[in-house]
This record gives sequence, C-alpha cells and structure tokens, in this order.
Amino acid sequence: CIHGIPRAPPDKILGLTEQFNKDKNPKKTNLTVGIYKDNWGQVTTFQSVARAQMILDQSIELNTDLSYLPIKGCPDFQLNVLKFLYRESCPEGAESLDQGRISFVQTLSGTGALAVTSKFLSLFMSRSVWIPKPSWPNHANVFQNNGFDDILYYSYYKNGTLDVDGWLDDLERGAKSRDGPPQCIVLHACCHNPTGIDPSREQWRRILDKIHELNIIPIIDMAYQGLDTGDLYKDAYLLRMSLDKKRYNWNNGLFLCQSFAKNMGLYGERVGSLSVVTPVRHNSKEIKRNVDSQLKKIVRGMYSSPPGYGSRVANVVLSTPHLRDLWHKDVKNVANRLHSVKAKMAERLEWDSLKDQSRQHGMFLYTGLDMRSVETLREKYSIYLVQDGRLSLSGLNDSNVDYVCDALQSVHRE
Ligand code: PMP
Repeated sequence: CIHGIPRAPPDKILGLTEQFNKDKNPKKTNLTVGIYKDNWGQVTTFQSVARAQMILDQSIELNTDLSYLPIKGCPDFQLNVLKFLYRESCPEGAESLDQGRISFVQTLSGTGALAVTSKFLSLFMSRSVWIPKPSWPNHANVFQNNGFDDILYYSYYKNGTLDVDGWLDDLERGAKSRDGPPQCIVLHACCHNPTGIDPSREQWRRILDKIHELNIIPIIDMAYQGLDTGDLYKDAYLLRMSLDKKRYNWNNGLFLCQSFAKNMGLYGERVGSLSVVTPVRHNSKEIKRNVDSQLKKIVRGMYSSPPGYGSRVANVVLSTPHLRDLWHKDVKNVANRLHSVKAKMAERLEWDSLKDQSRQHGMFLYTGLDMRSVETLREKYSIYLVQDGRLSLSGLNDSNVDYVCDALQSVHRE
C-alpha cells in the first residue's frame, strides 16, 4: 500500500544541482551536470541552431501546426538523421540503409533511446546487460526500469587507466557460466562518462571481436559525438568499426542510441534517435518490419509520440547545407574550449594524473578524488562535483578557474 513506499535516493547528478541552487556562497561553482557553458558561464544556443530557429519561425511550411508527430517521429527528421549517421558519420552503414535493414525511432534524446532499447530487448531478446564500471549512473536505472533483472558490470578502469584484459576476462567468464538468451553490452561510443578514457582503435578491435565471438548484443551509446576531437565524423569511429561487414555480422542486430543534447545543445528539447541495424538474412525485410512494428508499439505505450519542436530544429540544421557547415564549426568550437580548459588546469595543478590530459576525452575530468574530498570541496568551497569525482569542464572559465584549481589543489594535498 502507499504507506509502505520506501524513499528513493536522490538522483546522483541532478540532486546536487538542487542543493547548489540553495547554496548562498557567492563563489559557488556547479561542475556537476554535463551542460556546455561558454567562457562567461552561459548556456548559449549554437549559432547553427539559433539560425535554424529563425528559419522555422519565419516559415509557415516548416513551422507546422502543434498537432501530434507520428509515433516514430517526424519522417523528414528520420531521413536526415539516418543520412547523417549511416552515410556521413559511418559510410560503412550505407549498405544496410540501402537494403532497408535499419529500423528507426525518433526518441526523447539519448535516455529515451536507451529506454526504448531496453524495453524492446527485455520483451524479446535478453534481460542481462553488461555496463562498464564505472558508468553514467542512469544506465543501470534505465535497464532496471525496463525489465532487466541482471545488471552486470565489466572492469573498465584501474589505477587511472583502462583495464581491457579485465574487461575481456569478465565477458568470457560471464559467458561460460550461463546458457540461455544472449546478453547485451553498453559501449560508450567516445568520451566515456565519467572517466573520459576511451579504448584505442586496437583495443576496440579486440573488444568487438570478443563481443562478436560471444554473441553479445552491442548497444552503442553515442551521447558525445563531436565533443572529443571536434569532428563529428572522426568521433563516430566505434560505429564504423562495428559495421565493418568483412569482420562482423551482428546476428541479433546492433542498437545505436544517439543524442543531439550535447552536440547541438538541444538538451531540454529531447532530440535523439534509436536505430537498429538488423542482420543480413534471406528475410531481412520481414525482420526489419517486425522490429519496426514492435518499437512502435512500445513507444505508443510509453509516451505515444515524441515532441515536435526540437526535431524540427535539428532537421533544419541537418538539411540546410550552410547551417550544417556552421554546425560542424559550432561543435569544433565547443571541443576547442574543452581542450583549452583542460590545458589551463594542467598548467595550474601539480597533480600527476591530471597532467597527462591527453588520455581524457570529452566534457568531463575524472579527478580521482574520493567521496570525502568531494564533500570537502562542496562544504568548504561550495564547489560541486559529482560524488565519484567527475568534474564538468565547461563549468570552468576565466573568472573561476583559479579559485577552483586552488581548492582542488588543497583538498588533494589533505
Ligand atoms: N549516455 C551517456 C553516457 C550520457 O552521459 C548521457 C547524458 N548525460 C546520455 C546517455 C543521455 O543524455 P540525454 O538523454 O540528455 O541525451
């Protein structure tokens, strides 16, 4: 009954912002959430996105009524996102696209894509998923909420570096100890959250080979495409490697959960996609149509249809050549600023693990500070990091970088 409902713990990341908002210290600094801020501490709209918004405002044709979108989203958005993903970012996927083997749903950003994926998999294929240790805390939550009863963690990070041998051993041991339906695995496409440490191409090759050999279903979580190198194409290397048809035929499909939250700055508009690359079979078309129909049924039951505005904006950016070029520049600017903040910190901090910045990719810096130090930072300096020591780099700027570096240095020494 309702009297017996236990209190759920606050969200590990968003809960801290609630606390931050109540903090009265004028020097308070929020380095928790992964939202890109400019050097003036502002969350600004990308130039390309702002211009797309203007085009939309002025166009009666594009800015259609406020009626519902179809269950699977806006058809133009689907066309342009598939082109962006499977022709421009990953030409290795073009053949699957031409053969009509890619199922697609417009989703409520990356989290929505993961939610639909996990619901679909748990209904039809698997209830066991491998997640890196550590990972974005919401991964386990989403899979648990959508029917997964077996959340397994693979070794990922040891003493400041990647633990590929541990990772492969875990998968091997896990596969040996069970029969039955296949397992799934979540792979961070780039800019691993929270560690910022990504496997090299050679390491990915070994990892993908092992996943393929063990018949594990890959779920690629691509939330930061472009924020590593500043180049949207380059950052899609994991998708390209996975769709190398000379090497792999994913028998149970490959799931791509993709988000425009960070690389278009469309966070709150919830714009993203799930695409399922179904395998080459004599009845591929039939498989794809069946997958499509079930995805539709899931979406209908979950939230009926996705929101319209953000996907219209993204669609204008993707389909207008000069805005697309501008978008690529916007992404480059974001990545450049993240690199320069990291470089500034490396200069200021006498801290060996942070000196070697080249190993950490993306929006975050994994400081390696323990929970007690993170609490000290919060209580003594009003500097907010995520409990696991993850720091969101773009929260730093010319006016607070000295304050934060001094505080980091002092808690590190303690
Ligand atoms: N995956 C990872 C690893 C993330 O860090 C995030 C964003 N924090 C997401 C998925 C999804 O974010 P969104 O739903 O805002 O696209």
